[in-house]
Amino acid sequence: MSRIFINYRRQDSEGYVGRLYDHLSQYFDAQDIFIDVVNIEPGVDFVAKLDEAVANCDVFVAVIGTSWLNVPNEDGQPRLAQWNDFVRLEIAAALKHEKFIIPVLVGQAIMPNMHHLPEDIQGLARRNAITLRHAAFPEDVKRLADAIRSATIDAKRKTNALTPLKPAVDANILIEREAAIKKLRMELVGAMESPLYQYRTENRYYPVLGAGNVNANILFIGEAPSKYDAEVGQPFQGPSGDVLNEMFTLIGLKRDDVYMTNVVMDRLPDNRDPQPAEIAFYRPFVDSLLDIIQPVVYVTLGRFAMSHILHKFNSPEKKAKISQQRGKLMKASVSYGDVYIVPLYHPAVVLYRASDKEIFRKDFEKLRLFM
Ligand code: URA
Repeated sequence: MSRIFINYRRQDSEGYVGRLYDHLSQYFDAQDIFIDVVNIEPGVDFVAKLDEAVANCDVFVAVIGTSWLNVPNEDGQPRLAQWNDFVRLEIAAALKHEKFIIPVLVGQAIMPNMHHLPEDIQGLARRNAITLRHAAFPEDVKRLADAIRSATIDAKRKTNALTPLKPAVDANILIEREAAIKKLRMELVGAMESPLYQYRTENRYYPVLGAGNVNANILFIGEAPSKYDAEVGQPFQGPSGDVLNEMFTLIGLKRDDVYMTNVVMDRLPDNRDPQPAEIAFYRPFVDSLLDIIQPVVYVTLGRFAMSHILHKFNSPEKKAKISQQRGKLMKASVSYGDVYIVPLYHPAVVLYRASDKEIFRKDFEKLRLFM
């Protein structure tokens, strides 16, 4: 969710920027990293176009190599001294829009002195820089990625683009919610008309309503309990839960702070996909649970959960494929305010393919915005 604008001078640092882009894409979606403002059509005001591109980013990275100050134009004059130099125009726009600017020094460059810069970009010299060392490139890019992440979160908080965390509620409300959940659980236990009731009882499984913080800001909704889950009556206890635990640790989110539930609340034979009648049967249970918890962020795990929640909120993307929607931040309005929906792949899908797990990790990291 961080849009990163990389400003650089081709003659000065093109090789470094390619490498930087590759490394940064391990932390952020490649589509959120902008390197070149392309397609400036004939007749278009290029100053306005560059200004708009910079205005749309969250973090502005200015790459500075050893010849950054002095690269000459066709007349032998320093490009940076020209009013229409793209590098200068972009930096000036970033300063004007008060973007978070990180100078990145490559090839043993040092930070330019303010007095060597044109007046409109002198503010750059006051920004603390990160140096990318050849021998420690991955570690240095990791530091840069961390700085980008925290800058994005701060910027979103400042502009109120982020949802406020839910206020703590009165102890009596928590007690009422616990009681309502207990009642719902009893209804689920006794739901003999469930298409999965017989399978549950024959196998001595428990139904799994959900677990976690009843005033959670973030709610995770998966597909259906696994065998491990149905044996203890708690969601995400098996391998999928291990993937989630790893991600929680990565971003510093506590499992006890979120709530977890599923579209179908009983184990499905042979872990097969849920059928429409099964999803329909559990829908009132899911809806009642969501009404009790009132989460602000819905993290859907897998296509069934995504479809369930997007249909619930009548989202225009409700028929979209998970491969198109994963990692996107969607917004909807409900009776208690605005909510966000973050569709992710299902953790079981990413168990076997490292590349899918990478995608899952990057998408999961977007939840930092709500912590
Ligand atoms: N366990 C759950 O609770 N839900 C899933 O979707 C998978 C495993």
